[in-house]
Amino acid sequence: MNSDLAVIGGVGFVMEGLADEIETPYGRVPIIRCRMKGTKVAFISRHGDGHLPPHKVNYRALVSAAKGSGATAVISTNTVGSMSGHSPGSIFLPSDFVEFTKCRPNTFFEDRAVHVDMSEPYCPVLRAALSDAARSVGHPAAEGVYVCAEGPHLESPAQIRMMRQFGDVIGMTGYPEVTLAREAALCYASLCIVTNPAAGMAAVGDLSILDIANIMKSCQDVVREIIYQASQKISDGRSCRCHDALQDAVI
Ligand SMILES: [Zn+2]
Repeated sequence: MNSDLAVIGGVGFVMEGLADEIETPYGRVPIIRCRMKGTKVAFISRHGDGHLPPHKVNYRALVSAAKGSGATAVISTNTVGSMSGHSPGSIFLPSDFVEFTKCRPNTFFEDRAVHVDMSEPYCPVLRAALSDAARSVGHPAAEGVYVCAEGPHLESPAQIRMMRQFGDVIGMTGYPEVTLAREAALCYASLCIVTNPAAGMAAVGDLSILDIANIMKSCQDVVREIIYQASQKISDGRSCRCHDALQDAVI
């Protein structure tokens, strides 16, 4: 059964349905098949049951599984710290990214010169659907630049002072998912949940991973509703150019 939409769920976000798995060149990926009204959804847990840390996540397997599910669109959920004053619990949709990761495999094309265009890393159509959906459920989303840090530690105040020159929110899992999705010619958008102010932007000792997980849990229903509303708008063909991502990318 081909899915219409894949959802890659981050910390504290799950969807229920029928357990299945997809074989990929990067390993077998468990998925949950479910429906959102007429839309067939493949849910993929980014961190899995054992909760892999961000630097151990098999991003190529996740994106391969999303592609293998038959979906042409992928919504991922990511928790972020805000470097721009967004309040915890608010929704953020990246329009661009910068990354400071180390040695994460970030291409499907190890042995070929393939250079995908990154002028529009996140699908504009899918982002618009998420933005409309967020507004319609009373949580209008901010937009801007996502900065991906390697982690697994949270950032130091000096790191945040540096990184806020580059973007608005910071997380550890948005990259290389976004570029891999582009290489896979998928429509991809990230639905970020602001869980905390970044280090140095809150009182000392204010950041705990438990608090972050708890905020995410408390936002689960809103996130699910936004994905539901967006999922009802994406099945009418693709007016974006994501599916042409590999055209003119190969030397
Ligand atoms: Zn697209």
